[in-house]
Amino acid sequence: MPKITRPAAAKSSSKSKAAKASTAKKSRKPIATKPKTSRDPKKTKPWTPAEVREAFERFRKANPDPKGELEHLNPYTLLVAVVLSAQATDAGVNRATRALFPIADTPQKMLALGEEKLRDYVKTIGLYRTKAKNVIALSEKLIREFGGEVPRTREEIESLPGAGRKTANVVLNMAFGERTMAVDTHVFRVGNRTGLAPGKTPLEVELGLERVIPAEFMLHAHHWLILHGRYTCLARQPRCAVCLINDLCRWPEKTV
Ligand code: SF4
Repeated sequence: MPKITRPAAAKSSSKSKAAKASTAKKSRKPIATKPKTSRDPKKTKPWTPAEVREAFERFRKANPDPKGELEHLNPYTLLVAVVLSAQATDAGVNRATRALFPIADTPQKMLALGEEKLRDYVKTIGLYRTKAKNVIALSEKLIREFGGEVPRTREEIESLPGAGRKTANVVLNMAFGERTMAVDTHVFRVGNRTGLAPGKTPLEVELGLERVIPAEFMLHAHHWLILHGRYTCLARQPRCAVCLINDLCRWPEKTV
Protein backbone atom coordinates (compact mmCIF):
# COMPACT_ATOMS: atom_id res chain seq x y z
CA MET A 1 0.00 0.00 0.00
CA PRO A 2 1.52 3.35 -0.95
CA LYS A 3 2.62 5.67 1.81
CA ILE A 4 0.76 8.93 2.18
CA THR A 5 2.85 12.08 2.37
CA ARG A 6 1.90 13.80 5.59
CA PRO A 7 3.60 17.15 5.93
CA ALA A 8 4.54 18.44 9.35
CA ALA A 9 1.35 18.82 11.33
CA ALA A 10 0.11 22.29 11.98
CA LYS A 11 -3.15 23.56 13.25
CA SER A 12 -5.73 24.47 10.69
CA SER A 13 -7.30 27.88 10.53
CA SER A 14 -10.99 28.40 11.02
CA LYS A 15 -13.13 26.32 8.75
CA SER A 16 -14.95 28.05 6.04
CA LYS A 17 -18.30 26.58 5.11
CA ALA A 18 -18.85 25.83 1.51
CA ALA A 19 -20.52 28.81 0.02
CA LYS A 20 -22.90 28.63 -2.84
CA ALA A 21 -20.98 28.18 -6.00
CA SER A 22 -21.83 26.99 -9.41
CA THR A 23 -18.48 25.35 -9.85
CA ALA A 24 -15.65 23.97 -7.79
CA LYS A 25 -13.13 25.33 -10.27
CA LYS A 26 -10.60 28.02 -9.37
CA SER A 27 -9.75 28.83 -5.75
CA ARG A 28 -9.78 26.50 -2.77
CA LYS A 29 -11.27 29.20 -0.59
CA PRO A 30 -13.21 32.22 -1.66
CA ILE A 31 -10.85 35.13 -1.87
CA ALA A 32 -12.14 38.44 -0.64
CA THR A 33 -11.26 40.77 -3.43
CA LYS A 34 -11.28 43.77 -1.11
CA PRO A 35 -8.18 43.71 1.04
CA LYS A 36 -9.03 44.25 4.71
CA THR A 37 -7.15 47.50 5.10
CA SER A 38 -7.99 51.13 5.18
CA ARG A 39 -4.79 52.04 3.40
CA ASP A 40 -4.67 53.51 -0.05
CA PRO A 41 -2.26 51.18 -1.88
CA LYS A 42 -1.11 54.05 -4.06
CA LYS A 43 0.20 55.88 -0.98
CA THR A 44 2.02 52.88 0.44
CA LYS A 45 5.76 53.09 0.15
CA PRO A 46 6.85 50.10 -1.95
CA TRP A 47 9.27 47.65 -0.40
CA THR A 48 12.87 48.07 -1.44
CA PRO A 49 14.62 45.02 -2.93
CA ALA A 50 16.77 44.87 0.22
CA GLU A 51 13.67 44.75 2.42
CA VAL A 52 12.09 41.98 0.37
CA ARG A 53 15.29 39.97 0.56
CA GLU A 54 15.48 40.54 4.30
CA ALA A 55 11.90 39.30 4.79
CA PHE A 56 12.48 36.11 2.84
CA GLU A 57 15.81 35.46 4.50
CA ARG A 58 13.95 35.56 7.81
CA PHE A 59 11.25 33.19 6.52
CA ARG A 60 13.93 30.83 5.25
CA LYS A 61 15.88 30.93 8.50
CA ALA A 62 12.74 30.17 10.52
CA ASN A 63 11.54 27.38 8.21
CA PRO A 64 14.16 26.28 5.66
CA ASP A 65 12.01 23.61 3.99
CA PRO A 66 8.35 24.59 4.21
CA LYS A 67 5.76 22.05 3.12
CA GLY A 68 2.22 22.26 1.88
CA GLU A 69 -0.36 20.70 4.16
CA LEU A 70 -2.38 18.74 1.59
CA GLU A 71 -1.53 15.06 1.93
CA HIS A 72 -0.83 13.19 -1.30
CA LEU A 73 1.03 10.21 -2.74
CA ASN A 74 2.08 11.41 -6.19
CA PRO A 75 1.33 14.23 -8.68
CA TYR A 76 -2.06 12.70 -9.52
CA THR A 77 -3.26 12.54 -5.91
CA LEU A 78 -1.91 16.05 -5.35
CA LEU A 79 -3.98 17.26 -8.30
CA VAL A 80 -7.07 15.51 -6.94
CA ALA A 81 -6.46 16.91 -3.44
CA VAL A 82 -6.19 20.45 -4.78
CA VAL A 83 -9.38 20.05 -6.81
CA LEU A 84 -11.16 18.71 -3.72
CA SER A 85 -9.88 21.57 -1.59
CA ALA A 86 -11.74 24.37 -3.39
CA GLN A 87 -13.51 26.30 -0.64
CA ALA A 88 -12.53 23.72 1.96
CA THR A 89 -9.73 23.40 4.46
CA ASP A 90 -6.66 21.25 3.88
CA ALA A 91 -7.41 19.40 7.13
CA GLY A 92 -10.93 18.52 5.95
CA VAL A 93 -9.62 17.25 2.60
CA ASN A 94 -6.91 15.21 4.31
CA ARG A 95 -9.47 13.49 6.53
CA ALA A 96 -11.32 12.28 3.42
CA THR A 97 -8.34 11.40 1.24
CA ARG A 98 -6.53 9.30 3.86
CA ALA A 99 -8.99 6.51 3.07
CA LEU A 100 -9.39 7.33 -0.63
CA PHE A 101 -5.84 7.63 -1.92
CA PRO A 102 -4.52 4.23 -0.83
CA ILE A 103 -7.12 2.60 -3.09
CA ALA A 104 -7.24 5.21 -5.88
CA ASP A 105 -3.84 6.74 -6.51
CA THR A 106 -4.00 6.65 -10.32
CA PRO A 107 -6.62 7.84 -12.84
CA GLN A 108 -7.27 4.23 -13.80
CA LYS A 109 -7.99 3.19 -10.22
CA MET A 110 -10.19 6.25 -9.71
CA LEU A 111 -12.29 5.30 -12.74
CA ALA A 112 -12.49 1.71 -11.49
CA LEU A 113 -13.78 3.06 -8.17
CA GLY A 114 -16.45 5.06 -9.97
CA GLU A 115 -18.22 8.31 -9.23
CA GLU A 116 -20.76 6.92 -6.81
CA LYS A 117 -18.22 5.31 -4.49
CA LEU A 118 -15.96 8.32 -4.83
CA ARG A 119 -18.81 10.50 -3.58
CA ASP A 120 -19.00 8.37 -0.44
CA TYR A 121 -15.33 9.02 0.30
CA VAL A 122 -15.55 12.78 -0.17
CA LYS A 123 -19.03 13.54 1.12
CA THR A 124 -17.68 15.42 4.14
CA ILE A 125 -16.15 18.02 1.80
CA GLY A 126 -18.19 20.96 0.59
CA LEU A 127 -19.45 20.78 -3.02
CA TYR A 128 -18.55 17.10 -3.05
CA ARG A 129 -20.94 16.12 -5.82
CA THR A 130 -19.44 18.59 -8.29
CA LYS A 131 -15.96 17.76 -7.14
CA ALA A 132 -16.47 14.00 -7.52
CA LYS A 133 -17.79 14.57 -11.02
CA ASN A 134 -14.74 16.70 -11.83
CA VAL A 135 -12.30 14.14 -10.43
CA ILE A 136 -13.82 11.41 -12.60
CA ALA A 137 -13.84 13.69 -15.65
CA LEU A 138 -10.26 14.83 -15.14
CA SER A 139 -9.15 11.22 -14.66
CA GLU A 140 -10.78 10.28 -17.97
CA LYS A 141 -9.08 13.20 -19.67
CA LEU A 142 -5.70 12.34 -18.18
CA ILE A 143 -5.98 8.82 -19.62
CA ARG A 144 -7.41 9.96 -22.94
CA GLU A 145 -5.05 12.85 -23.65
CA PHE A 146 -2.03 12.62 -21.38
CA GLY A 147 -1.18 8.94 -21.10
CA GLY A 148 -2.53 8.78 -17.55
CA GLU A 149 0.07 11.28 -16.30
CA VAL A 150 -0.41 14.77 -14.87
CA PRO A 151 0.76 17.18 -17.58
CA ARG A 152 3.54 19.64 -16.81
CA THR A 153 2.32 22.84 -18.37
CA ARG A 154 -0.03 25.41 -16.90
CA GLU A 155 -2.30 25.40 -19.95
CA GLU A 156 -2.69 21.64 -19.91
CA ILE A 157 -3.41 21.48 -16.18
CA GLU A 158 -5.91 24.34 -16.46
CA SER A 159 -7.69 22.43 -19.22
CA LEU A 160 -8.65 19.68 -16.75
CA PRO A 161 -12.15 19.70 -15.24
CA GLY A 162 -12.14 21.42 -11.84
CA ALA A 163 -8.64 22.84 -12.22
CA GLY A 164 -7.94 26.56 -12.45
CA ARG A 165 -4.88 28.76 -12.36
CA LYS A 166 -4.24 28.24 -8.68
CA THR A 167 -4.52 24.45 -9.02
CA ALA A 168 -1.97 24.59 -11.81
CA ASN A 169 0.36 26.74 -9.72
CA VAL A 170 0.15 24.41 -6.71
CA VAL A 171 0.74 21.28 -8.81
CA LEU A 172 3.58 22.83 -10.81
CA ASN A 173 5.24 24.00 -7.60
CA MET A 174 4.74 21.00 -5.32
CA ALA A 175 4.88 18.15 -7.82
CA PHE A 176 7.34 19.49 -10.37
CA GLY A 177 9.42 22.06 -8.48
CA GLU A 178 8.45 25.04 -10.64
CA ARG A 179 8.81 28.52 -9.19
CA THR A 180 5.11 29.37 -9.30
CA MET A 181 3.09 31.50 -6.89
CA ALA A 182 -0.33 30.11 -6.04
CA VAL A 183 -2.47 32.82 -4.47
CA ASP A 184 -5.05 31.57 -1.99
CA THR A 185 -6.94 33.63 0.56
CA HIS A 186 -3.90 33.77 2.87
CA VAL A 187 -1.38 34.83 0.25
CA PHE A 188 -3.86 37.39 -1.08
CA ARG A 189 -4.25 38.91 2.38
CA VAL A 190 -0.54 38.92 3.19
CA GLY A 191 0.41 40.38 -0.20
CA ASN A 192 -2.02 43.24 0.33
CA ARG A 193 -1.58 43.93 4.02
CA THR A 194 2.17 43.95 4.04
CA GLY A 195 2.29 46.07 0.92
CA LEU A 196 4.57 43.49 -0.72
CA ALA A 197 2.25 43.09 -3.72
CA PRO A 198 -1.01 45.00 -3.43
CA GLY A 199 -3.68 43.90 -5.88
CA LYS A 200 -7.42 43.74 -6.33
CA THR A 201 -7.41 40.22 -7.74
CA PRO A 202 -5.44 37.04 -7.00
CA LEU A 203 -3.78 37.36 -10.41
CA GLU A 204 -2.58 40.90 -9.67
CA VAL A 205 -1.11 39.74 -6.37
CA GLU A 206 0.46 36.68 -8.01
CA LEU A 207 2.16 38.75 -10.69
CA GLY A 208 3.19 41.39 -8.15
CA LEU A 209 4.81 38.81 -5.89
CA GLU A 210 6.59 37.21 -8.83
CA ARG A 211 7.94 40.64 -9.73
CA VAL A 212 9.39 41.49 -6.32
CA ILE A 213 10.51 38.17 -4.84
CA PRO A 214 14.07 37.20 -5.79
CA ALA A 215 14.28 33.99 -7.84
CA GLU A 216 16.23 32.15 -5.17
CA PHE A 217 13.22 32.31 -2.82
CA MET A 218 10.48 31.54 -5.32
CA LEU A 219 10.43 27.77 -4.90
CA HIS A 220 9.29 28.08 -1.29
CA ALA A 221 7.78 31.59 -1.29
CA HIS A 222 4.26 30.31 -1.83
CA HIS A 223 4.42 28.10 1.27
CA TRP A 224 6.11 30.71 3.44
CA LEU A 225 3.39 33.22 2.63
CA ILE A 226 0.54 30.73 3.09
CA LEU A 227 1.89 29.61 6.45
CA HIS A 228 2.50 33.21 7.46
CA GLY A 229 -1.11 34.08 6.66
CA ARG A 230 -2.52 30.93 8.22
CA TYR A 231 -0.69 31.08 11.53
CA THR A 232 0.58 34.64 12.06
CA CYS A 233 -1.05 37.25 9.84
CA LEU A 234 -4.53 35.99 10.71
CA ALA A 235 -7.51 37.55 9.00
CA ARG A 236 -9.21 38.90 12.12
CA GLN A 237 -6.49 39.24 14.68
CA PRO A 238 -3.04 39.26 13.13
CA ARG A 239 -0.35 38.31 15.60
CA CYS A 240 1.83 41.31 14.87
CA ALA A 241 3.74 41.09 18.16
CA VAL A 242 5.29 37.76 17.13
CA CYS A 243 5.48 38.47 13.41
CA LEU A 244 8.90 37.95 11.86
CA ILE A 245 8.49 40.87 9.51
CA ASN A 246 6.61 43.36 11.69
CA ASP A 247 9.26 46.04 11.23
CA LEU A 248 9.01 45.74 7.45
CA CYS A 249 5.23 45.40 7.12
CA ARG A 250 3.44 48.48 5.74
CA TRP A 251 0.02 47.77 7.22
CA PRO A 252 -1.07 50.93 9.05
CA GLU A 253 -3.23 48.88 11.44
CA LYS A 254 -0.47 46.55 12.56
CA THR A 255 -0.38 46.32 16.35
CA VAL A 256 3.34 46.87 16.95
S1 SF4 B 1 2.98 42.98 11.20
FE1 SF4 B 1 0.90 42.19 11.52
S2 SF4 B 1 -0.21 42.80 9.68
FE2 SF4 B 1 1.97 42.96 9.20
S3 SF4 B 1 2.52 40.96 8.30
FE3 SF4 B 1 2.93 40.85 10.47
S4 SF4 B 1 1.10 39.95 11.37
FE4 SF4 B 1 0.55 40.71 9.33
